[in-house]
Amino acid sequence: MKIDEAYKKSDENFLFVKLKREVELYKKQNPKCEVIDLGVGDVKLPPIKCVGRALKKAADIISDKKGFKGYPPAFGYDFLREKISADYAKKGACVLKDEIFITDGAKRAICDLVEIVRPEKALILSPTYPLYADVCKAKGVDFRLAGSCEQGEFFALPSEDFSPDVIFICSPNNPTGSVISDETLEKYVDYALEKSALIIFDGAYRSFLKGNFCVYKTDGAASSVAEVRSYSKSLSFTGVRCGYTVIKKENPLYPAYRRHALLHSNGVSFISQYGASAAYSKLGTKQLDARVEYYKKSAKILKEEISKTGAKLLGGENAPYLFLKTPCSGEQFSCGLLRACGVVVTPGEGFGAQNYVRISCFCNKKQALSAGKKIAEYLREVCLKD
Ligand code: PLP
Repeated sequence: MKIDEAYKKSDENFLFVKLKREVELYKKQNPKCEVIDLGVGDVKLPPIKCVGRALKKAADIISDKKGFKGYPPAFGYDFLREKISADYAKKGACVLKDEIFITDGAKRAICDLVEIVRPEKALILSPTYPLYADVCKAKGVDFRLAGSCEQGEFFALPSEDFSPDVIFICSPNNPTGSVISDETLEKYVDYALEKSALIIFDGAYRSFLKGNFCVYKTDGAASSVAEVRSYSKSLSFTGVRCGYTVIKKENPLYPAYRRHALLHSNGVSFISQYGASAAYSKLGTKQLDARVEYYKKSAKILKEEISKTGAKLLGGENAPYLFLKTPCSGEQFSCGLLRACGVVVTPGEGFGAQNYVRISCFCNKKQALSAGKKIAEYLREVCLKD
């Protein structure tokens, strides 16, 4: 059987598989110990109330003869696309309904974009979400990582000696929580236009960022940026699945993207889209703000406890993650921490940063306080040993 050779080079992320195994083993060996899982960035709470109600109502609508729906429109229901378009307008950006494509989440959407462009070279602003490097490996794309935690260079400027076809930018960033500045974004848009490259702008954590930032307010972004958004973390849709991708009509990719969407998908379920649309109501906006604040509060508690050790700690304000500098490798630290006190965090190496761990803030205040104290205690222990 003929199989694309590139897939052989892209194993499952070994670090994450290993950590998962360690957690299972720990639970087996310590059945009475409470495990606080701040590893995988999955949400822990159900959707905000008005979205939960809308999901139930949607199930009722399609369970009735009159309301039943078959295949959804390939690019998404107008009722949701119109609300998204109005949301962009509120932020001062013009994104037309027809430039919005409803997807089943950001992960698939990012892989689709890579498939359409078929880049030879890619630039990844690092440290960041491992999917970008993984998809490049799986598709045989030559990629370069730019940026360094050590130098505080989170959105390193483009260099002229490399001509990527695709540039990955995640802002607010997973795992550092950093946010790209307007000036750096302008430079990247100019660079993308000069190189005829596509910027894949991953806005999965946009709801954690206050204010009116919008990538399409940057001159030239309309023809060079595909913005990918997700309801996974904001609306607790990691299981429901829904998101959207924006391709402006000025972008040369527009016709190919439409063709690809028609070819590869039969749309996203009415239930997901109806549920997501409820978040744009006045009540939805209020409840969503409160939810974001809930996670930010957990981040603040964790940060306060860990900061008492004097350790270097990034993030927590514009993304639901903290990125902690560790006195040993991130892998050693996360394994040691788990064995010492049952707290799970993710090694930074998985995101392209040595000697860091990512701490997810998707937890309640009690867990945040307990985990914060335990991490601080373990940090002191490890530092004292050295
Ligand atoms: N982009 C980033 C930066 C993420 O951290 C994640 C998930 O953790 C995703 C995309 C995937 O989102 P989705 O659940 O919409 O596929």
